[in-house]
Amino acid sequence: MNYRDILENIRLAFPQPVSDPIHDSYFVHSIMRALDQVDTLKTHLPMLGTIVPADFEGARQTTLPATMSSVEDVTAALVGYLRGMTIFGHPRSQQNVIPPPTIPSVIGVLVASLYNPNITWDEFSRLVALAEVEVVGITSKMVGYDPGASSGVFTFGGTGTTLYGVKIGLEKACPGTAQNGTSEDAIVFVSDTGHYCATNIVGWLGIGTNNLVTIPTTPENEMDLTHLEQATRQALANGKKIAAIIATLGTTDAFGLDDLEHIAALRDTLVDEFQLDYRPHIHADAVIGWAWSVFNDYNFEENALGFRPRTIRALAGACRRIRHLSLADSIGIDFHKTGFAPYISSLVLVKNQADLDLVKRHPEQMPYLYHFGDYRPGMFTLETSRSGTGPLAALANLKLFGEQGLCVILGHIVEMTQLLREHLEGHAGTTVLNRDNFGTVTLFRAYPPGVDTFSIKQEEFEDAAYRESLIAHNTYNRDIYQYVHSEAMEGRGVVISITDCYRHTTYGEPIVALKSYILSPFVDEADVKTVVDKVLEAREKLRE
Ligand SMILES: *Cc1c(COP(=O)(O)O)cnc(C)c1O
Repeated sequence: MNYRDILENIRLAFPQPVSDPIHDSYFVHSIMRALDQVDTLKTHLPMLGTIVPADFEGARQTTLPATMSSVEDVTAALVGYLRGMTIFGHPRSQQNVIPPPTIPSVIGVLVASLYNPNITWDEFSRLVALAEVEVVGITSKMVGYDPGASSGVFTFGGTGTTLYGVKIGLEKACPGTAQNGTSEDAIVFVSDTGHYCATNIVGWLGIGTNNLVTIPTTPENEMDLTHLEQATRQALANGKKIAAIIATLGTTDAFGLDDLEHIAALRDTLVDEFQLDYRPHIHADAVIGWAWSVFNDYNFEENALGFRPRTIRALAGACRRIRHLSLADSIGIDFHKTGFAPYISSLVLVKNQADLDLVKRHPEQMPYLYHFGDYRPGMFTLETSRSGTGPLAALANLKLFGEQGLCVILGHIVEMTQLLREHLEGHAGTTVLNRDNFGTVTLFRAYPPGVDTFSIKQEEFEDAAYRESLIAHNTYNRDIYQYVHSEAMEGRGVVISITDCYRHTTYGEPIVALKSYILSPFVDEADVKTVVDKVLEAREKLRE
């Protein structure tokens, strides 16, 4: 066979480079066919098809096929990999901080993928690079940065955003680490309910996990400021440098919000008192909480959108901390969490553009790039190639929702969360653990009949005499979860999740908690009531 015959098929498998409406219909039809096949996987269950056990051992034996397949065959094969996927947008899915992506954000990913812009340089991405800058402008204003002074880039996830923050802080505290390697005296602070990516980052940056200091948190899951003050003073008194203080605004499990106002004031005091020749960098890990900044301008008294009083209280409670985001020197934002965009869509913002110069390389080190053009973030980004999908997906949703739409979608999921808590608090057998955290995640525990749920939470949390009781109830809640989960898999109830350690007790024991994470705009009142009904039903079953 002449290769040219095969080449014909290969060419048909690409979008056509010059206008060809007939081939365009074939392209669209191929996508439609994929969507149709996905549709046949939809049932009443909150997942696609059924869960098929995955043979990872067998998968390692996979080989490259000898000959070409058709677009149709490959499409069918790909759709097959979606079997068993949770439908995160399903009203009966309250599993984790994973949003359902909107249609425009998916189209953002599609159009960027079609023409493959590389936003390392505007020469390779033209106006898609502009989209990145527009998102930086919009979000800078949302969080209260001066868009004339701020800057930012999309990177490889929330983890990447914190990596940027810490790396910039390290350069401020210990100038020249990029050339000389990392000094042993650099310390990073984060709360003990902050994200584990901090551990990763100090490891990868060479700061070392021994130089990561985790600060205990209050029962509200906020960094304990007395401890932070002690720890930072001690570090400075011992001649150490503060590479960064990571403030978490929206912890992953509980939506705890660190008090940035206080942390920034502490930092300023330390600079004066210890006559520091650098300002310790404050990075706000707001990958979850950033979206609440849309309520900074919402008039809670007027409440034009008509949220319930409990919702208003929750939104205002979150804004009380979120409105100080601009005090941070850099901020991490995940559109693939509370921005309803597909992975990966993460943005790190810096308050002062000049901070990015601290991680810039010399042009001689990159001889084949950046000779001209107006926008060359590749001079300082960790990545070389960067996809245009993240910025276009983010921009799609910012344009789609606008301020009002964002208020509505967030307000609704907060309202559903509050409703869930109302139901949970209305029963003697269940209690909410993160009552003072106002996000869309609810951590709760169920107790067997006869336990006084008014006092048990506190007792198990702070009294070591309750260790046995706490451990027994950890097991009890795992059993509750098993029941609720298997019911949900059968189409009876809601998929929630469980965390093995929502936090530790004061005497060091992990507290297991049931967890509802509401991120689907389709969740409604009946769905949250079902969660509680199922937990109560599990309680009855466990009694039998
Ligand atoms: C999810 C999360 C991260 C990590 O973000 P990725 O986008 O998954 O890399 C960091 N911090 C917090 C608080 C998170 O919730």
